[in-house]
Amino acid sequence: MGTEFLKIIDVEEAKKIIRNLFKETYKLKSENIPVGDAYNRIVSEDILSTIDLPIFDRALKDGYAIKSEDSFGANEENPKILNCIDKVEAGSFSKKTIKTGECIEISTGAPIPDGADAVVMVEYSEKLEESSTKDIAILKSVPPTEDISKKASDIKKGKLILRKGTILNPVKIGILSAQGIDDVNVFKKPIVSIISTGNELLNKNEKIEPGKIYDANTNLIKGVVLASGGIPLTKDIVKDDYNELKMKINGSLNSDIIICSGGTSAGVGDILKNVVDEIGEVLIHGISVKPGKPTLVGKIKDKIIIGLPGNPVSAIIIYSIFIDSHIRLISKSPEKGGNKRINFELAKRIHSAKGRMEYLLVQIKNDKVYPILKDSGAIASLSYADAYVKIPKSVEIVDVGEIVEVILF
Ligand code: AMP
Ligand code: MG
Repeated sequence: MGTEFLKIIDVEEAKKIIRNLFKETYKLKSENIPVGDAYNRIVSEDILSTIDLPIFDRALKDGYAIKSEDSFGANEENPKILNCIDKVEAGSFSKKTIKTGECIEISTGAPIPDGADAVVMVEYSEKLEESSTKDIAILKSVPPTEDISKKASDIKKGKLILRKGTILNPVKIGILSAQGIDDVNVFKKPIVSIISTGNELLNKNEKIEPGKIYDANTNLIKGVVLASGGIPLTKDIVKDDYNELKMKINGSLNSDIIICSGGTSAGVGDILKNVVDEIGEVLIHGISVKPGKPTLVGKIKDKIIIGLPGNPVSAIIIYSIFIDSHIRLISKSPEKGGNKRINFELAKRIHSAKGRMEYLLVQIKNDKVYPILKDSGAIASLSYADAYVKIPKSVEIVDVGEIVEVILF
């Protein structure tokens, strides 16, 4: 039940339709997840501190909490002798108040006792009687607040600590944890169902038979969806059967996006267009691009459906050019690092299809560009492609020695 292509449109027009489709259909949602699982997620609201940090004045060093004025004038030759009245370790506190002439032995992280306003490091002290440890010689004069981390000096309660849109790196996760915050609202990632179609495709564990091939696309597309920040949901292979495909697509409408591959053309067995026509709306069928002319874009209710060409190389090129950036945007992933453009000399003449924008895989060797002249089913060629070259639809030949702009992967 093949049909004609709906209408072949230009690359720029296709990009516009896809941009609008994502804008109109996909609504950003947030979810609440444990802070410990939130690495690389994006916070979906401003987060205020819930407590002061530090929660109390605390010692920065092991030593003695004192009244600083008791140390004034002290040095190695003229130590000041203080009476040690208590000992406080991290995790506990002293009920005693320091009076003039007294000190309390203190550990790093312990709360500063009442009456004290400084800490003298243990290195600047001496226990006078090992047995009693009552008298402590202070060997250095310290100013008020010495070696004390003041309450709220790091973060004040109620202050903005993470702005909406912040990526949760390990440090930021640590800050939330120090605040006692156990879970956090982050942007939900879009769920992408992946459906490979074709009578020739073998399922996992099936033996190879004449005319059959292994399914490369399901895992290939799963990989690129992950790289874009989506959550892939791979489905079983579907035969070129109208009802089977319709059922599978209907069963995938709980995801945000459905990506099919294969069966997007206008020949016998190419049924995706008919299915989307019936249960949704086809917005693009046919883009003036090589490879990847038989690309389909549509919507079913408020969900996006993409039909990539079955050839793995075409599928990946179409995904990279038309889909990747949108999934990054809605999953709030960083823009792709690659896409760097450099000019090099062409080492081999290119003949390009007239009337279609061509994306040609190339290898770069010794600063020269070598086109990879394989068909778009040749998946292995992807693994040694360094970049691609865009050949405008008006250009038929690019000659040896011409300078071309390559877009690095
Ligand atoms: P189609 O888009 O269905 O016309 O398929 C175009 C070409 O891609 C055919 O040679 C298919 O056998 C091949 N193909 C389709 N789907 C896959 C797949 N999942 N894995 C590998 N090759 C595929
Ligand atoms: Mg097919």
